[in-house]
Amino acid sequence: MALDWAHRGTSHVQFQAEEAVPLEQGRFLGHGMNGGVYETTCLGMAVAWKRRYCRRQIGTQELREMDILKKLDHRHIVKLVGTYTHESFLGILLWPVATCDLGTFMEDVDHLVSHQSMQSDYDPEIDYQSMEQRLRQLRIDTFSDWPSARRAALLRLKQSIGCIASAIVYLHEQSIRHKDIKPSNILLTPTGLYVTDFGTSTDFSGFSQSVTQNGERGTPKYFAPEVAEYEPNGRSADIFSLGCVFLEMIGLCNQYSLSSMLALRPKKDRSFHANLDSIMRWFNFSGTEVQWPADQHLLALARQMLSRDPQKRPTADHIERRLHLIDAIQRPRPSTPLRRACCRPELPLPMAGMEHAGTRRAHATVEIGNWHQDISPGHSWRFFVRFPSIESIVDSVHLFLHPSFQNPYHVKTQPPYEFNGKGWGFFTITILVSLRPGYWWTSADAAVGLEKESLMPLYWTLDFSRDLTVSKVALEIATMSSG
Ligand SMILES: [Zn+2]
Repeated sequence: MALDWAHRGTSHVQFQAEEAVPLEQGRFLGHGMNGGVYETTCLGMAVAWKRRYCRRQIGTQELREMDILKKLDHRHIVKLVGTYTHESFLGILLWPVATCDLGTFMEDVDHLVSHQSMQSDYDPEIDYQSMEQRLRQLRIDTFSDWPSARRAALLRLKQSIGCIASAIVYLHEQSIRHKDIKPSNILLTPTGLYVTDFGTSTDFSGFSQSVTQNGERGTPKYFAPEVAEYEPNGRSADIFSLGCVFLEMIGLCNQYSLSSMLALRPKKDRSFHANLDSIMRWFNFSGTEVQWPADQHLLALARQMLSRDPQKRPTADHIERRLHLIDAIQRPRPSTPLRRACCRPELPLPMAGMEHAGTRRAHATVEIGNWHQDISPGHSWRFFVRFPSIESIVDSVHLFLHPSFQNPYHVKTQPPYEFNGKGWGFFTITILVSLRPGYWWTSADAAVGLEKESLMPLYWTLDFSRDLTVSKVALEIATMSSG
């Protein structure tokens, strides 16, 4: 959206030394990579004004950031309004001006979830006034009702997950690696969210491969292990950093304070990559007690994103699909969708078209259960789901296991729809049964997938008290009759 901001006919202006830059410096917004960031106004619009001192000519890094930003157009990525040079300075104008970044917001949410009121356990380190002001700007009113402010803040936090994911999907589709994904590079406005700071990004669309050995490095805390080791790294390094951010966000949504998350990273620089063993132990044991069953699947996704092996991390596109499926699982419950309206795809309602005169309905029995055998030590089990009367119209079965599984998500596209496991504990397996095009589940619990397929969530808690436990679920499907 680069604009003719200085009325010179271009979005990039070279001012002469004797000229004055036609901008007025407003409030201080924060520290950028090489200098302060201030608010200013141009074309009647509030923008963020970054100035960088360039010793000689404008460096390749600055040019790269501008080239990358000029290319990008997405609802969750900051926009370049214009640029200029003046003496030894490079000026960059970015929209929008944020209320705060996600890191600051998460600290505020941390305060909201761990205190009973704004100033209980008064901490002289905290600037309560600006916290209150910030939250009010984000439309979270802490004055009248603390519990509802907490709910509003957690809703905002949780829905940001899907919006951030959509920005990273877009970047990777555009062959851009961000390379410094962290909460302070995600900006929040009263209703919006914007990924920013492309100072270290690499546009690899011109390269033959997406792995470089000499690129800029991001922020140690959120570094992928291969980045920390100066090894070649690709898009999957962004996914690792994003996994760290998601883990902190999902943790907060489930009453895990930022300090309890920090306690999981005792070693070295408190980074995620240096403390992966401790984080994985947490996933295996204590760290999966969550408020909503769907949050277990979110944690399972974050765990996969934190895989040490880059090959085992999901792609951004896969993450977005998984989030959609997790939304489908939690649909029947009164919980929080994982994205705001801006990132919800236009999909038909689950029941759309079914009131049509030509709709045929049929009963569908689903058998769901598990076999079990005592082994020493623990249990061996086989989960299964069968569709005696409608097998031919089942397209696939998505399986969501416990977050302690290395690979907690599986999709089966043909029978037998089974899964074998071994271990001590029982847990609830969630499945989504997807129908072939033209068929719908009539249940109010059904949801619509990204390919407009009808998805039915079903749950099964493993039973180790018998050799075989099976339950029959009576459902109904509908289709349009051709005649
Ligand atoms: Zn969005």
